[in-house]
Amino acid sequence: MAFSDNILAWFEVHGRKDLPWQKHPLPYRVWVSEIMLQQTQVKTVIPYYQRFMSRFPDIHRLADAPQDEVLHYWSGLGYYARARNLHKAAQQVRDTYKGIFPEQFKQVEALPGIGRSTAGAILSLACGQRHAILDGNVKRVLARYHAVHGWPGSSSVLRELWSLAEAATPAENVAAYNQAMMDLGATLCRRGQPDCDTCPLTSGCLARQQGVQRDLPSPRPRKTLPVRKVHMLLLQDVQQAVWLQQRPPSGIWGGLWSFPEFDGTAAVHRWLAEKGLPAEIHERDVVRHTFSHFHLEITPCHVKLQNPVFSVMDGDGGLWYNTGQPGALGLPAPVQRLLQCLQASD
Ligand code: SF4
Repeated sequence: MAFSDNILAWFEVHGRKDLPWQKHPLPYRVWVSEIMLQQTQVKTVIPYYQRFMSRFPDIHRLADAPQDEVLHYWSGLGYYARARNLHKAAQQVRDTYKGIFPEQFKQVEALPGIGRSTAGAILSLACGQRHAILDGNVKRVLARYHAVHGWPGSSSVLRELWSLAEAATPAENVAAYNQAMMDLGATLCRRGQPDCDTCPLTSGCLARQQGVQRDLPSPRPRKTLPVRKVHMLLLQDVQQAVWLQQRPPSGIWGGLWSFPEFDGTAAVHRWLAEKGLPAEIHERDVVRHTFSHFHLEITPCHVKLQNPVFSVMDGDGGLWYNTGQPGALGLPAPVQRLLQCLQASD
């Protein structure tokens, strides 16, 4: 039986067919799901997807929304560049294609945040076109089945995996095949514990024959992540609102709202002195957040104001955020965590 026949037969019985984006698989719905799924597991994505789609049910609604609101609906999913690109791409589709998602591969691939695999997934799952895909799950299945050694992030390994993916993609039933490959990688050919005994590919899988399935795909060559340290000012007014500032549009947490950030306590003191605010700082336990390329260690500096503050804060590109009645702001996960700690200690 051909590789793809095996996969399709398995999908028929075990594949996931009732995910929210599989109902009415329009390009927009599939697109949003594919972007959310890029770094996140299905069960985490589902509630975010449902909330996002009820607020932004079509491309126009997404394109016309303020970026802050889009980021708010993404808050907690991480990798916020995905949300900013999704928003930007929706505006391009609105302005260039009259709000109709393009069906030409090159046009789709040229949209912000959509690479070769995501373009292939959208056009195969939503439009039935024949395109190979190579997301993390598919890379793992193919690297193991063909015993491809080497880190898939390197260009030679990636090239090899793409040519294997192209060769395996059938001429028909591509939507089911691509969905099946993603499902197989997520449910059977899992990263830590592949379930080879029930896998439909078991008889031809080279990694299994060689007993190296857990070693493949080869991990990224190790290097120690650097640690970046920052101090964040948790300035709280008499109504328990906290002072937040919007971060620059690009870079870490671009466009999200966060606490003012400093490189040390002295800088926090200077900032408070410039505003004529009291200087009694309570340092709290350090919070660590890990990004793909560094660890961020945050020292929270809590300052509780005893008197109302009005115009003194004007012109700083910030706002008083009431933790009791959260508005539609995008907040990075560590900021949400710090806000919860503040609430718990009030
Ligand atoms: S046999 Fe095991 S390692 Fe090979 S594809 Fe199936 S689950 Fe993955």
